[in-house]
Amino acid sequence: MDQRLLHIQVCMYQYSRAIYRSIKDLIDPYVDNQLRLEYRREVLEACEQTMERLAKDPLYFSKPDRALFQDIRRFFPITAQAQVAWAVSEGVAAATGFIESQIEAGAFDGGVSRCRATTRKGKPCQRTPLPERDYCPSHQHLERASVAA
Ligand SMILES: [Zn+2]
Repeated sequence: MDQRLLHIQVCMYQYSRAIYRSIKDLIDPYVDNQLRLEYRREVLEACEQTMERLAKDPLYFSKPDRALFQDIRRFFPITAQAQVAWAVSEGVAAATGFIESQIEAGAFDGGVSRCRATTRKGKPCQRTPLPERDYCPSHQHLERASVAA
């Protein structure tokens, strides 16, 4: 798999664990142990699924924090709902910020990297770079220039 996508998945996993950790102790304390374990598993799964979906489909997943909260709110007592909603929106916002930075870095351009040169018309070059390089064949002299500098 693409190293960058792998890196994104690892990060998303950490974000989902962080969200889970921030709310797991708020899970309904008035149910028996067995059920509480069940609830924890459900909450963890919902966090992971939300982060996975965000990583796969960041441009078409609107309001992921609200979606996650709707999925898990039934596992928390009414007195904890506001705190859970807050923790979820903080955690998801951190993950969304990370994903956005990855989109800007081009990680979601179909997995295809682009030459880093700018054409004479001032547009980014659309050609595929040489293997292991930042520039396409017609701009490879730019790479040598930056190595020399
Ligand atoms: Zn180029």
